[in-house]
Amino acid sequence: MKLFVATKNQHKVDELKLLLHEPTIELVRLPDGLPDAVEDGVTFEENAMKKAVFYSQLVSGKVLSDDSGLVVPMLNGEPGVLSARYAGKHGDDEANNERLIERLREVGVVEVPAYFACALAIAQAGQVLVTVEARVSGTVYTERRGTHGFGYDPLFTPYGHKHRYAEMSPEEKSLFSHRAMAVRMLRDRKSQWMSHESVS
Ligand code: IMP
Repeated sequence: MKLFVATKNQHKVDELKLLLHEPTIELVRLPDGLPDAVEDGVTFEENAMKKAVFYSQLVSGKVLSDDSGLVVPMLNGEPGVLSARYAGKHGDDEANNERLIERLREVGVVEVPAYFACALAIAQAGQVLVTVEARVSGTVYTERRGTHGFGYDPLFTPYGHKHRYAEMSPEEKSLFSHRAMAVRMLRDRKSQWMSHESVS
């Protein structure tokens, strides 16, 4: 079965491919030239559903979307659903990290509790088949470490670990990341979305 992945973020595609090793599922990118989905939801789950539904009306088959981000409760939930465009330009990881470090300095901290959230949704022909959401709590620092991964990985260390996400190999991150836990939930609920008749 083909499963379209509704994201232009190659890092997410790579992580999802590493995580969703179902022999019967082939993860494929959306065709080029499709318009961008509007991400104006106030929760990760809402945005994940919006993206999956939007693209499932443009392609034939099931569409998986991922909406994820970092939440710092001390900053009233920033960057939250705006994680990808926190500093203004979508997907500018360097600028987003810089903005977060600046905000933490403004409130006078060098480390603070935070969590990563990942919502996944699968839709087909405009209908949501399943949604899941997972979180991983940890600490965000004003000092960057590591060169792996993407986004806020250099600033985040999950509880119970000594290293930032960006200091871990993709395989290590995939053992317990927010995305890994969400994919596990999706696999546990396979009967809910896999059995749904596929036209692809
Ligand atoms: P989305 O594409 O609107 O879901 O936004 C995702 C954004 O959240 C990314 O651009 C990153 O800034 C951040 N993010 C999501 N997952 C991760 C992760 O696993 N590591 C680091 N940053 C992440």
